[in-house]
Amino acid sequence: MSILVVGSVAFDSIETPFGRVENVLGGSATYFSTAASFFADVNLVAVVGDDFPQQHLDFLRSREIDLRGLTRSSGKTFHWKGKYGYDLNEAQTLETHLNVFETFKPQIPSAYADSDYLFLANIDPDLQMDVMRQVKSPKIIASDTMNYWISSKPDSLKKVIGEVDILIINDAEVRQLSQEPNLVKGAKKILETGLKNLIVKRGEYGVLMFTKTSIFAAPAYPLEEVFDPTGAGDTFAGGFMGYLANTGDTSEAGIRQAIIFGSVMASFNVEDFSLDRLKRLSYGEIEERYRSLKAMTHFEGLPAMESPL
Ligand code: AMP
Repeated sequence: MSILVVGSVAFDSIETPFGRVENVLGGSATYFSTAASFFADVNLVAVVGDDFPQQHLDFLRSREIDLRGLTRSSGKTFHWKGKYGYDLNEAQTLETHLNVFETFKPQIPSAYADSDYLFLANIDPDLQMDVMRQVKSPKIIASDTMNYWISSKPDSLKKVIGEVDILIINDAEVRQLSQEPNLVKGAKKILETGLKNLIVKRGEYGVLMFTKTSIFAAPAYPLEEVFDPTGAGDTFAGGFMGYLANTGDTSEAGIRQAIIFGSVMASFNVEDFSLDRLKRLSYGEIEERYRSLKAMTHFEGLPAMESPL
């Protein structure tokens, strides 16, 4: 089954305590597609400028990502500049140059209109809605957003959340969206709007999934070396949706496994700048880390004790 993703393809300039890079390949849809391509066919809808180099297109094609929906417009590619301190969970945006992204109106090629899996990466919620209207009857729609849209277009965003199956956002976004400081209460408030699954990304603290009747907690894979957290959220979403599209298993058990695949993919991505780690990743490494995360999180059931005090 194939996945359709709509989002940004970008040049990023990033500074972390461990180094800096300028104008490297980035963008929410780029991270998502690359991660998802380990599991399923991916159709990418985005825009780049005429400065976007052939080598990046070659890389995306080498992952067998379908680029018929990638428009090249005259002008410059979207550019994001960000910085992280020792707390790698928090990105500080230094500059955002929308460039060709400013007038981006996603046109879904007719060949993609039957997509079963749709991921709406972080773009204007009005555009997210417009994309949903162009896709016939997807089995699963998941979406992301960011603080900027929560504060600037709350009504449009609520409409989007009312139509998606899974919302994948970070803990600060849950607090902002629900206007509730406690994460669990905030998540419950968001689910009251009718949303079925809320996945909360918490950086190095892992992921929480909330449904009406359950909570699932997955830790992040403990790493000694984290170089650059950029794209971790989108890489998570790519592994997550990729697994669902591969297996078609959208039961709660399947969604839990998808969360682990997403966490595994994100853990690789943060080991190097840009998409460098994903570029040299093998499926065998993914399986090995999945097994290792499973072993790390196993614990026995409640023991029978003689006389509890
Ligand atoms: P993440 O770290 O998963 O939140 O995603 C980081 C990626 O999002 C970077 O590669 C950026 O190019 C991209 N990005 C940053 N700001 C925006 C924005 N306002 N709209 C779309 N994409 C963005």
